[in-house]
Amino acid sequence: MHECPRVVWTVDPGSRCLVDKEAPCTTNGCDQCKGWRRTAYTLPHQPMGPRQMLARARDAYEWSRYATPRRLRNAAALWTSFQRAKRSKEPRIGGMPFSISFEPTTACNLRCPECPSGLRSFTRPTGNLKQELFTRVIDELAPDLWALTFYFQGEPYINPRFLDMVRHAHDRGLYTATSTNAHFIDDASAEATVRSGLSRLIISLDGTTQETYEQYRREGELAKVIEGTRRIVAWKRRLKSRTPHVVFQFLVVKPNEHQIPRRANWRELGVDELWLKTAQIYDPKDDHPLIPVQDKYARYRRNAQGVWEVKSRLEDNCWKMWHSCVITWDGRVVPCCFDKDAHHVLGDLRTHGFNELWRSDAYNTFRRSLLHSRSSIEMCRNCSEGSPVWA
Ligand code: SF4
Repeated sequence: MHECPRVVWTVDPGSRCLVDKEAPCTTNGCDQCKGWRRTAYTLPHQPMGPRQMLARARDAYEWSRYATPRRLRNAAALWTSFQRAKRSKEPRIGGMPFSISFEPTTACNLRCPECPSGLRSFTRPTGNLKQELFTRVIDELAPDLWALTFYFQGEPYINPRFLDMVRHAHDRGLYTATSTNAHFIDDASAEATVRSGLSRLIISLDGTTQETYEQYRREGELAKVIEGTRRIVAWKRRLKSRTPHVVFQFLVVKPNEHQIPRRANWRELGVDELWLKTAQIYDPKDDHPLIPVQDKYARYRRNAQGVWEVKSRLEDNCWKMWHSCVITWDGRVVPCCFDKDAHHVLGDLRTHGFNELWRSDAYNTFRRSLLHSRSSIEMCRNCSEGSPVWA
């Protein structure tokens, strides 16, 4: 193995050049890679190719395999009750959530500038999710639940029981997904990840050179991300596993918007898809160091009065409040992933069952305030619900 200092992908000697697929990779920092860097500055996001479409179709098929008559009925009842609530402004809910997020941990090894884990700025308690709590809640929800996301704040692989929990959810027939900075994927954890049955693995890759990557992923090492990705792909092949569906997520911010990867780069690594994501910014303003120059990658715009605001229309409703929720590592239920510091706790699963909380007065009061005035809730004013976050 050697690392090309120009592009920081780790490449096998004798493998194909990442730029010119006809040519073998020869030396470190060759002219091809220099050329690739120049080109990358001007590349727009490429449309999906046939392999990406096929990969996406495989993932959709994987998702559909977890449907049961009861889950379909539940999802339909939720959707119907949501439509009714939008008209009546009364928050009656017709089912249980079909998608939830569980927070494996609040700890993280990196120091990303717009993240409370990275900034070590939580005011709520921090720690690792315990398997007993997780199992109890999942066993209660599994008949209606369809998908489980293992992330909120923190790096999931820091929780030593993380993959055991994935395995439990998989055994309960749930589509499972997680998002990682891929710094802890050694050979053993790559094998365990594939064997756990995890359905989708999202890997944050926010730059194609170390210099750019670390401007957002502070204290991160791009070479570790690439190595971790290679290990996952290698174990998928070795075990002849369809899963996990591997996604590179590129959070587009001003320091990296010139480096959106070409398809050749991520396909070469065996990754199934590239997602470009817009970034949530706490305090959008002129010359913000993270808001991209290219408008299509920005979640915000300046309005006629010159004030920065989210591009979404802030309608007085929120589908998320009907079909999903987020559970912190210590069992508190919060409305969604925008409530990073748990300011809107709607219940505590250490003392109550989920069903009781889901239909409680506290939950319905929050739903009702969204139906009447979403902009009266501070976090809901800086929220992308109702508008796309994928560029
Ligand atoms: S922040 Fe957004 S997703 Fe969360 S409850 Fe408010 S409107 Fe819904």
